[in-house]
Amino acid sequence: MNTFHSTRLKLTAWYVIISIVITLLFSLVIYFGITTQLDGMSKFQELNKQNNIQINPSISSSMSPPPSLDPESAKNRIFLILLIVNGVVLCVSGGAGYVLAGRTLRPIIEMLEEQSRFITDASHELKTPLTAIRTEFEVAMLEKNMSKQQSEKLIKSSYEEIVNLQGLAENLLELTSQQKKRGNLKPKDVSLLEVTEAALGKVIPLAKQKHITINNLVDDYILQGEEQSLAELFVILLDNAIKYSPDNSEVKLNSKKTDRHIMITVSDNGIGIAQKDCLHIFDRFYRADKSRSKMAGYGLGLSIAKEIVESHKGSISVESEINHGTVFTIKLPLPSNS
Ligand code: ADP
Repeated sequence: MNTFHSTRLKLTAWYVIISIVITLLFSLVIYFGITTQLDGMSKFQELNKQNNIQINPSISSSMSPPPSLDPESAKNRIFLILLIVNGVVLCVSGGAGYVLAGRTLRPIIEMLEEQSRFITDASHELKTPLTAIRTEFEVAMLEKNMSKQQSEKLIKSSYEEIVNLQGLAENLLELTSQQKKRGNLKPKDVSLLEVTEAALGKVIPLAKQKHITINNLVDDYILQGEEQSLAELFVILLDNAIKYSPDNSEVKLNSKKTDRHIMITVSDNGIGIAQKDCLHIFDRFYRADKSRSKMAGYGLGLSIAKEIVESHKGSISVESEINHGTVFTIKLPLPSNS
Protein backbone atom coordinates (compact mmCIF):
# COMPACT_ATOMS: atom_id res chain seq x y z
CA MET A 1 0.00 0.00 0.00
CA ASN A 2 2.96 2.29 0.81
CA THR A 3 4.47 1.57 -2.59
CA PHE A 4 1.10 2.43 -4.12
CA HIS A 5 1.07 5.78 -2.30
CA SER A 6 4.65 6.76 -3.13
CA THR A 7 4.22 5.69 -6.79
CA ARG A 8 0.98 7.69 -6.94
CA LEU A 9 2.81 10.77 -5.61
CA LYS A 10 5.67 10.29 -8.08
CA LEU A 11 3.22 9.97 -10.97
CA THR A 12 1.37 13.09 -9.77
CA ALA A 13 4.69 14.96 -9.63
CA TRP A 14 5.38 13.96 -13.24
CA TYR A 15 1.90 15.11 -14.35
CA VAL A 16 2.49 18.46 -12.57
CA ILE A 17 6.01 18.90 -14.00
CA ILE A 18 4.78 18.20 -17.54
CA SER A 19 1.81 20.59 -17.31
CA ILE A 20 3.80 23.35 -15.61
CA VAL A 21 6.62 23.13 -18.18
CA ILE A 22 4.06 23.42 -21.00
CA THR A 23 2.23 26.39 -19.41
CA LEU A 24 5.53 28.10 -18.53
CA LEU A 25 6.67 27.82 -22.14
CA PHE A 26 3.33 29.22 -23.34
CA SER A 27 3.55 31.99 -20.75
CA LEU A 28 7.06 32.94 -21.89
CA VAL A 29 5.98 33.03 -25.52
CA ILE A 30 2.93 35.14 -24.63
CA TYR A 31 4.92 37.45 -22.33
CA PHE A 32 7.72 38.12 -24.79
CA GLY A 33 5.27 38.42 -27.69
CA ILE A 34 3.15 41.02 -25.92
CA THR A 35 6.05 42.95 -24.39
CA THR A 36 7.71 43.26 -27.81
CA GLN A 37 4.41 44.61 -29.19
CA LEU A 38 4.13 47.01 -26.26
CA ASP A 39 7.67 48.29 -26.73
CA GLY A 40 6.93 48.84 -30.41
CA MET A 41 3.72 50.70 -29.64
CA SER A 42 5.32 52.90 -27.00
CA LYS A 43 8.15 53.81 -29.40
CA PHE A 44 5.52 54.68 -32.02
CA GLN A 45 3.68 56.89 -29.45
CA GLU A 46 6.92 58.64 -28.55
CA LEU A 47 7.59 59.32 -32.20
CA ASN A 48 4.04 60.69 -32.69
CA LYS A 49 4.46 62.98 -29.71
CA GLN A 50 7.80 64.26 -30.95
CA ASN A 51 6.57 64.96 -34.48
CA ASN A 52 3.15 66.16 -33.20
CA ILE A 53 1.34 64.16 -35.85
CA GLN A 54 -2.46 64.22 -35.94
CA ILE A 55 -3.69 61.11 -37.65
CA ASN A 56 -7.23 62.32 -38.29
CA PRO A 57 -7.80 65.85 -37.14
CA SER A 58 -11.59 65.80 -37.86
CA ILE A 59 -12.14 62.80 -35.57
CA SER A 60 -9.56 63.77 -32.99
CA SER A 61 -11.25 67.17 -32.50
CA SER A 62 -14.46 65.47 -31.41
CA MET A 63 -12.67 62.79 -29.28
CA SER A 64 -10.45 62.95 -26.28
CA PRO A 65 -6.84 61.91 -27.08
CA PRO A 66 -6.11 58.20 -26.58
CA PRO A 67 -4.69 57.43 -23.16
CA SER A 68 -0.95 57.27 -23.32
CA LEU A 69 0.43 53.76 -22.90
CA ASP A 70 2.54 52.98 -19.86
CA PRO A 71 4.52 49.95 -21.07
CA GLU A 72 6.02 49.15 -17.66
CA SER A 73 2.68 48.90 -15.80
CA ALA A 74 1.14 46.94 -18.72
CA LYS A 75 4.08 44.51 -18.58
CA ASN A 76 3.67 44.15 -14.83
CA ARG A 77 -0.04 43.41 -15.23
CA ILE A 78 0.61 40.76 -17.88
CA PHE A 79 3.32 39.25 -15.69
CA LEU A 80 0.87 39.10 -12.75
CA ILE A 81 -1.89 37.53 -14.89
CA LEU A 82 0.51 34.89 -16.23
CA LEU A 83 1.75 34.21 -12.71
CA ILE A 84 -1.84 33.62 -11.52
CA VAL A 85 -2.57 31.39 -14.55
CA ASN A 86 0.54 29.32 -13.78
CA GLY A 87 -0.46 29.06 -10.12
CA VAL A 88 -3.95 27.87 -11.09
CA VAL A 89 -2.46 25.32 -13.54
CA LEU A 90 -0.11 24.10 -10.78
CA CYS A 91 -3.00 23.57 -8.33
CA VAL A 92 -5.42 22.03 -10.88
CA SER A 93 -2.78 19.72 -12.40
CA GLY A 94 -1.72 18.67 -8.90
CA GLY A 95 -5.29 17.73 -7.90
CA ALA A 96 -6.25 16.20 -11.26
CA GLY A 97 -2.88 14.42 -11.49
CA TYR A 98 -3.37 12.85 -8.07
CA VAL A 99 -6.83 11.54 -9.06
CA LEU A 100 -5.61 10.35 -12.48
CA ALA A 101 -2.53 8.67 -11.00
CA GLY A 102 -4.80 6.79 -8.58
CA ARG A 103 -7.02 5.64 -11.46
CA THR A 104 -4.04 4.62 -13.59
CA LEU A 105 -2.47 2.59 -10.82
CA ARG A 106 -5.67 0.94 -9.48
CA PRO A 107 -5.85 -1.93 -12.07
CA ILE A 108 -2.13 -2.64 -11.60
CA ILE A 109 -2.56 -2.78 -7.82
CA GLU A 110 -5.60 -5.04 -8.18
CA MET A 111 -3.61 -7.35 -10.44
CA LEU A 112 -0.73 -7.50 -7.95
CA GLU A 113 -3.13 -8.19 -5.08
CA GLU A 114 -4.77 -10.95 -7.12
CA GLN A 115 -1.35 -12.44 -7.89
CA SER A 116 -0.33 -12.39 -4.25
CA ARG A 117 -3.68 -14.04 -3.26
CA PHE A 118 -3.01 -16.67 -5.92
CA ILE A 119 0.48 -17.38 -4.57
CA THR A 120 -0.83 -17.58 -1.00
CA ASP A 121 -3.65 -19.97 -2.00
CA ALA A 122 -1.34 -22.14 -4.09
CA SER A 123 1.34 -22.28 -1.38
CA HIS A 124 -1.29 -23.25 1.16
CA GLU A 125 -2.57 -26.06 -1.07
CA LEU A 126 0.98 -27.29 -1.74
CA LYS A 127 1.93 -27.13 1.93
CA THR A 128 -0.74 -29.59 3.12
CA PRO A 129 0.39 -32.67 1.14
CA LEU A 130 4.08 -31.77 1.60
CA THR A 131 3.61 -31.59 5.37
CA ALA A 132 1.83 -34.96 5.30
CA ILE A 133 4.73 -36.60 3.39
CA ARG A 134 7.33 -35.02 5.67
CA THR A 135 5.53 -36.13 8.86
CA GLU A 136 5.18 -39.69 7.59
CA PHE A 137 8.90 -39.83 6.73
CA GLU A 138 9.90 -38.34 10.08
CA VAL A 139 7.86 -40.95 11.93
CA ALA A 140 9.37 -43.70 9.73
CA MET A 141 12.92 -42.48 10.42
CA LEU A 142 12.33 -42.78 14.16
CA GLU A 143 11.11 -46.35 13.70
CA LYS A 144 14.14 -48.60 14.19
CA ASN A 145 12.70 -51.89 13.01
CA MET A 146 10.27 -51.05 10.25
CA SER A 147 8.36 -54.03 8.92
CA LYS A 148 7.99 -54.67 5.18
CA GLN A 149 4.26 -54.01 5.50
CA GLN A 150 4.88 -50.61 7.17
CA SER A 151 7.36 -49.53 4.55
CA GLU A 152 5.00 -50.57 1.75
CA LYS A 153 2.24 -48.52 3.39
CA LEU A 154 4.56 -45.53 3.64
CA ILE A 155 5.62 -45.80 0.00
CA LYS A 156 2.00 -46.15 -1.15
CA SER A 157 0.68 -43.16 0.78
CA SER A 158 3.65 -40.98 -0.23
CA TYR A 159 3.16 -42.00 -3.84
CA GLU A 160 -0.52 -40.97 -3.64
CA GLU A 161 0.40 -37.60 -2.17
CA ILE A 162 3.01 -37.09 -4.93
CA VAL A 163 0.41 -37.91 -7.60
CA ASN A 164 -1.91 -35.35 -5.93
CA LEU A 165 0.85 -32.76 -5.91
CA GLN A 166 1.57 -33.40 -9.57
CA GLY A 167 -2.12 -32.97 -10.41
CA LEU A 168 -2.24 -29.75 -8.41
CA ALA A 169 0.85 -28.38 -10.17
CA GLU A 170 -0.64 -29.27 -13.58
CA ASN A 171 -3.93 -27.56 -12.66
CA LEU A 172 -2.10 -24.45 -11.45
CA LEU A 173 -0.11 -24.29 -14.68
CA GLU A 174 -3.29 -24.74 -16.74
CA LEU A 175 -5.03 -21.97 -14.80
CA THR A 176 -2.18 -19.48 -15.31
CA SER A 177 -1.88 -20.43 -18.97
CA GLN A 178 -5.63 -19.82 -19.46
CA GLN A 179 -5.37 -16.51 -17.58
CA LYS A 180 -2.60 -15.40 -19.96
CA LYS A 181 -4.88 -16.08 -22.92
CA ARG A 182 -7.36 -13.39 -21.83
CA GLY A 183 -7.37 -10.78 -24.57
CA ASN A 184 -4.68 -12.71 -26.47
CA LEU A 185 -6.80 -15.50 -27.90
CA LYS A 186 -6.25 -16.37 -31.56
CA PRO A 187 -9.69 -17.72 -32.46
CA LYS A 188 -10.35 -19.98 -35.41
CA ASP A 189 -13.47 -21.66 -36.75
CA VAL A 190 -14.13 -24.64 -34.51
CA SER A 191 -16.76 -27.35 -34.84
CA LEU A 192 -18.70 -27.79 -31.59
CA LEU A 193 -19.33 -31.44 -32.35
CA GLU A 194 -15.65 -32.14 -32.95
CA VAL A 195 -14.65 -30.35 -29.75
CA THR A 196 -17.15 -32.24 -27.60
CA GLU A 197 -16.21 -35.56 -29.23
CA ALA A 198 -12.53 -34.89 -28.44
CA ALA A 199 -13.46 -34.19 -24.81
CA LEU A 200 -15.60 -37.34 -24.68
CA GLY A 201 -12.66 -39.41 -25.85
CA LYS A 202 -10.73 -38.34 -22.75
CA VAL A 203 -13.44 -39.03 -20.17
CA ILE A 204 -14.90 -42.25 -21.59
CA PRO A 205 -12.58 -44.54 -19.53
CA LEU A 206 -13.78 -42.87 -16.30
CA ALA A 207 -17.43 -43.11 -17.40
CA LYS A 208 -16.97 -46.81 -18.24
CA GLN A 209 -15.62 -47.52 -14.75
CA LYS A 210 -18.89 -46.19 -13.29
CA HIS A 211 -21.09 -47.54 -16.11
CA ILE A 212 -22.24 -44.01 -16.89
CA THR A 213 -23.73 -43.29 -20.32
CA ILE A 214 -22.77 -40.01 -21.95
CA ASN A 215 -25.19 -38.73 -24.59
CA ASN A 216 -23.68 -36.14 -26.85
CA LEU A 217 -26.70 -34.38 -28.43
CA VAL A 218 -24.98 -31.18 -29.56
CA ASP A 219 -25.51 -29.87 -33.10
CA ASP A 220 -22.54 -29.19 -35.28
CA TYR A 221 -22.38 -25.43 -34.86
CA ILE A 222 -19.29 -23.51 -35.86
CA LEU A 223 -17.74 -21.47 -33.07
CA GLN A 224 -14.92 -18.96 -32.99
CA GLY A 225 -12.35 -20.13 -30.50
CA GLU A 226 -9.35 -22.18 -29.58
CA GLU A 227 -10.03 -25.86 -30.12
CA GLN A 228 -7.74 -27.18 -27.38
CA SER A 229 -9.06 -24.81 -24.70
CA LEU A 230 -12.69 -25.53 -25.61
CA ALA A 231 -12.02 -29.28 -25.48
CA GLU A 232 -10.39 -28.78 -22.06
CA LEU A 233 -13.53 -26.89 -20.92
CA PHE A 234 -15.77 -29.86 -21.79
CA VAL A 235 -13.30 -32.34 -20.24
CA ILE A 236 -13.56 -30.42 -16.94
CA LEU A 237 -17.37 -30.32 -16.98
CA LEU A 238 -17.79 -33.93 -18.12
CA ASP A 239 -15.17 -35.16 -15.65
CA ASN A 240 -17.06 -33.43 -12.80
CA ALA A 241 -20.43 -34.75 -14.04
CA ILE A 242 -19.03 -38.30 -13.97
CA LYS A 243 -17.18 -37.84 -10.65
CA TYR A 244 -20.24 -36.51 -8.84
CA SER A 245 -22.81 -38.92 -10.36
CA PRO A 246 -23.83 -42.36 -9.10
CA ASP A 247 -22.98 -45.53 -11.04
CA ASN A 248 -25.27 -46.42 -13.98
CA SER A 249 -26.52 -42.84 -14.41
CA GLU A 250 -26.59 -40.61 -17.48
CA VAL A 251 -24.74 -37.45 -18.48
CA LYS A 252 -26.04 -35.31 -21.34
CA LEU A 253 -24.62 -32.66 -23.60
CA ASN A 254 -27.12 -30.42 -25.44
CA SER A 255 -26.89 -27.31 -27.56
CA LYS A 256 -29.19 -24.54 -28.72
CA LYS A 257 -28.72 -21.53 -30.98
CA THR A 258 -30.15 -18.16 -29.90
CA ASP A 259 -30.00 -14.77 -31.65
CA ARG A 260 -26.50 -14.02 -30.50
CA HIS A 261 -25.22 -17.11 -28.73
CA ILE A 262 -24.73 -20.82 -28.83
CA MET A 263 -25.85 -22.35 -25.56
CA ILE A 264 -24.37 -25.66 -24.48
CA THR A 265 -25.55 -27.55 -21.42
CA VAL A 266 -23.80 -30.35 -19.54
CA SER A 267 -26.31 -32.07 -17.25
CA ASP A 268 -26.09 -34.96 -14.81
CA ASN A 269 -28.28 -36.70 -12.25
CA GLY A 270 -25.62 -36.65 -9.56
CA ILE A 271 -25.29 -35.49 -5.96
CA GLY A 272 -26.05 -31.85 -6.86
CA ILE A 273 -24.65 -28.68 -5.31
CA ALA A 274 -26.22 -26.71 -2.43
CA GLN A 275 -27.41 -23.20 -3.34
CA LYS A 276 -24.88 -21.61 -0.94
CA ASP A 277 -22.05 -23.44 -2.75
CA CYS A 278 -23.33 -22.57 -6.24
CA LEU A 279 -22.27 -18.97 -5.54
CA HIS A 280 -18.64 -19.99 -4.97
CA ILE A 281 -17.85 -23.08 -7.02
CA PHE A 282 -16.13 -20.99 -9.73
CA ASP A 283 -13.77 -19.52 -7.11
CA ARG A 284 -10.23 -20.85 -6.97
CA PHE A 285 -9.73 -23.79 -4.60
CA TYR A 286 -13.40 -23.82 -3.57
CA ARG A 287 -14.73 -27.32 -2.95
CA ALA A 288 -18.34 -27.86 -1.92
CA ASP A 289 -18.93 -30.06 1.14
CA LYS A 290 -16.04 -32.54 0.86
CA SER A 291 -17.79 -35.11 3.07
CA ARG A 292 -20.63 -35.40 0.55
CA SER A 293 -18.56 -35.83 -2.54
CA LYS A 294 -15.65 -37.84 -1.05
CA MET A 295 -13.88 -37.13 -4.32
CA ALA A 296 -10.27 -36.09 -4.77
CA GLY A 297 -9.88 -32.69 -6.32
CA TYR A 298 -8.26 -29.30 -5.89
CA GLY A 299 -11.20 -26.98 -6.54
CA LEU A 300 -9.44 -25.58 -9.62
CA GLY A 301 -11.37 -27.24 -12.46
CA LEU A 302 -14.26 -24.80 -12.55
CA SER A 303 -11.94 -21.78 -12.17
CA ILE A 304 -10.10 -22.98 -15.27
CA ALA A 305 -13.46 -23.57 -17.03
CA LYS A 306 -14.54 -19.99 -16.19
CA GLU A 307 -11.25 -18.58 -17.49
CA ILE A 308 -11.67 -20.48 -20.78
CA VAL A 309 -15.29 -19.33 -21.23
CA GLU A 310 -14.46 -15.72 -20.41
CA SER A 311 -11.44 -15.62 -22.69
CA HIS A 312 -13.94 -16.68 -25.41
CA LYS A 313 -16.18 -13.73 -24.36
CA GLY A 314 -18.84 -16.11 -23.08
CA SER A 315 -20.42 -16.91 -19.74
CA ILE A 316 -20.93 -19.99 -17.59
CA SER A 317 -23.63 -20.61 -14.99
CA VAL A 318 -24.89 -23.46 -12.86
CA GLU A 319 -28.28 -24.72 -11.70
CA SER A 320 -28.44 -27.56 -9.28
CA GLU A 321 -30.63 -29.45 -6.86
CA ILE A 322 -29.23 -31.60 -4.09
CA ASN A 323 -29.53 -35.32 -4.94
CA HIS A 324 -31.23 -34.54 -8.25
CA GLY A 325 -28.45 -33.29 -10.43
CA THR A 326 -26.62 -30.35 -11.90
CA VAL A 327 -26.78 -28.41 -15.16
CA PHE A 328 -23.88 -26.24 -16.31
CA THR A 329 -24.83 -23.78 -19.07
CA ILE A 330 -22.21 -22.20 -21.29
CA LYS A 331 -23.04 -19.31 -23.58
CA LEU A 332 -20.58 -18.58 -26.34
CA PRO A 333 -21.01 -15.75 -28.85
CA LEU A 334 -21.94 -16.66 -32.40
CA PRO A 335 -19.24 -15.93 -34.98
CA SER A 336 -19.82 -12.49 -36.52
CA ASN A 337 -20.37 -13.93 -40.05
CA SER A 338 -23.21 -16.33 -39.05
P1 ADP B 1 -12.81 -30.31 -8.00
O1 ADP B 1 -11.44 -30.66 -8.42
O2 ADP B 1 -12.97 -30.28 -6.52
O3 ADP B 1 -13.84 -31.11 -8.71
P2 ADP B 1 -13.93 -28.07 -9.39
O4 ADP B 1 -13.50 -26.64 -9.43
O5 ADP B 1 -14.03 -28.79 -10.67
O6 ADP B 1 -12.94 -28.79 -8.40
O7 ADP B 1 -15.33 -28.13 -8.67
C1 ADP B 1 -15.55 -27.37 -7.49
C2 ADP B 1 -16.60 -28.03 -6.64
O8 ADP B 1 -17.87 -27.95 -7.31
C3 ADP B 1 -16.38 -29.52 -6.43
O9 ADP B 1 -15.58 -29.73 -5.30
C4 ADP B 1 -17.77 -30.07 -6.25
O10 ADP B 1 -18.15 -29.97 -4.90
C5 ADP B 1 -18.64 -29.11 -7.04
N1 ADP B 1 -19.07 -29.65 -8.36
C6 ADP B 1 -18.57 -29.38 -9.57
N2 ADP B 1 -19.24 -30.02 -10.54
C7 ADP B 1 -20.19 -30.74 -9.93
C8 ADP B 1 -21.22 -31.63 -10.40
N3 ADP B 1 -21.39 -31.89 -11.70
N4 ADP B 1 -22.04 -32.18 -9.46
C9 ADP B 1 -21.86 -31.91 -8.16
N5 ADP B 1 -20.93 -31.09 -7.65
C10 ADP B 1 -20.10 -30.51 -8.53
